[in-house]
Amino acid sequence: MSNETGCAQLQPKDYKSGVKPVWCPGCGDFGVLGSITKALAGLQIRPEDAAIVSGIGCSSRMPTYLGTYGFHGVHGRALSLATGLKVARPDLTVIATGGDGDGFSIGGNHFLHTCRRNPDMTYIVMDNQVYGMTKGQASPTTEPNWERGKLTPLGTGINPFQPLVIALASGANFIARCSSSDSNGTARIIMEAIRHPGFSMVQVLSPCVTFRPEQREWKNLLVPDPVEATSDPAKAARRLLTDEGMFTGILYVGDRPAYQPKLESTVDHVAAFEEDFRL
Ligand code: SF4
Ligand code: MG
Repeated sequence: MSNETGCAQLQPKDYKSGVKPVWCPGCGDFGVLGSITKALAGLQIRPEDAAIVSGIGCSSRMPTYLGTYGFHGVHGRALSLATGLKVARPDLTVIATGGDGDGFSIGGNHFLHTCRRNPDMTYIVMDNQVYGMTKGQASPTTEPNWERGKLTPLGTGINPFQPLVIALASGANFIARCSSSDSNGTARIIMEAIRHPGFSMVQVLSPCVTFRPEQREWKNLLVPDPVEATSDPAKAARRLLTDEGMFTGILYVGDRPAYQPKLESTVDHVAAFEEDFRL
């Protein structure tokens, strides 16, 4: 199949790197990988025009499995790295990926300020309410009564972090939730998130089948009808504050201008920066 310029249409498989994922069989992150490749193919973004940036954790392995540009960074720093990249290369489609531990604990401060700054990029958080890579500790989004292991034998006793409420309050311009069990639906939402100007926050409910096997049931608990999108932050907040956490769909679309400072010359700028730090 080819497009109107005579070039072959890019297919989801064209965005894969060929590296075999090491995720546990049944991990929700496989579905999200598929959704990202479908979304990029749906928008016909050339692999060399996209960059995937991550921190640390199971889901942060994502750049390794994609044939776009990629940067597997350090814990909690995906958004600051991705913001720098987008500012320096506004022509690139920049997507940050990661998990709840990476994004909302050590990365929490960057999350708040990226929402506030509103760069034109997409953040896909695979939320499984646990630290999977380090073998199953409670994360910021873990419910207070999840009892496991020596660290939290009686649960954390702390209310979970609410990423979408925080995103809305901090100024994210597009807010959605989806499920890794719905690969096509998640791909459609990622496409909308990429298209929408400004910072798009996409929370994907993505089960950790190894340390939270009960999350296999999530697909049966999802609210069947997708939430209706609104541009009214008060309406979106009411929905979030009265919600059980299982709706999917695009909740909020704002119209704040994206952050994009003018760069006089990227090359000169980097050279001057290097000069400043020369020892
Ligand atoms: Fe996925 Fe959990 Fe295995 Fe990590 S530990 S790969 S999150 S199932
Ligand atoms: Mg996690």
